[in-house]
Order: sequence, then C-alpha cells, then structure tokens
Amino acid sequence: MHCRALGVRLTAQRKEVLELLLRRGGSAKAYDLQDDMRARHGRVAPSTVYRALEFLMDQHLVHRVDALNTFIVCNAEHAAHHPLLLVCSNCEAVTELHDDKAYEAVQKTLRQAGAGFVESEIEVKGTCGKCRSQKPGAERETAATAKG
Ligand SMILES: [Zn+2]
Ligand SMILES: [Zn+2]
Repeated sequence: MHCRALGVRLTAQRKEVLELLLRRGGSAKAYDLQDDMRARHGRVAPSTVYRALEFLMDQHLVHRVDALNTFIVCNAEHAAHHPLLLVCSNCEAVTELHDDKAYEAVQKTLRQAGAGFVESEIEVKGTCGKCRSQKPGAERETAATAKG
C-alpha cells in the first residue's frame, strides 16, 4: 500500500482502485481498472471508477496523464506538490519529477500573458533514462543537457 494513503481516509472502493492501480505497476487507463473491478465484483459502473480516481487525485495520491489518458500513482511523500510529468515518447513510461521553480515560472508567464492559471500538472515529452541508455549517442546528449 502507498505509504501516504494510510493517512487518508479511504473507502473500501477508493482503496481498491488505488490497489489495482499499484498492481498494474502504478499506471493504467480507467477502463483497465474498470475491467479489474468487474473481474472481482461483476457489474461495475464506469462512474464508480472515475469517482474513486477523482477522489484520489484530489488527495494527490494519483495523477492524471493527459498525453496518454492514463492515471499514475504519485511518488511524492508530501501531499501538496506540483508534479512535472515526463512522458517518454518511446516507451510511454511516466516519470514524476518535482520542480517548484519551473512550475512557478510557467505560472508567472501565463499570468503575464493575461491567461488564467489552472492548478495542474505539467507534462513534458521526452525520452526516459532507460530508453536513452539504449540509444546510441545518448552520452553526447547527456553532456549537452548537463551544460545547459
Ligand atoms: Zn505526485
Ligand atoms: Zn522510455
């Protein structure tokens, strides 16, 4: 069980959705979770899964990845945070990073542009560490990134 989940009051259903998400390696689509629920309980309304996911997202235990239309289990230890989600364009793995300064900068830029800022995750497309290490020429890229 997710350590931070212990501090949150979860109904059996919400707990089960989080558990199923963890069982799928911490990342899944809503309908996969619905299938898992159905396998266990028979008929399950899609809204049951979505409502549980919404609650878990409000608690920052789960994040939605819009680029992939998936949900991931949060890896942060504190409740309030601004995740920077790196979505690998090769293997679709999602890595949760935290960079409050980058988040504040985006927030500031949007405000300066007169745009309304919505509290949200920031998604960045890239190549995960695993894929980069398998790609020839990855070392040179790493050096360039470290400089900038
Ligand atoms: Zn998180
Ligand atoms: Zn990858």
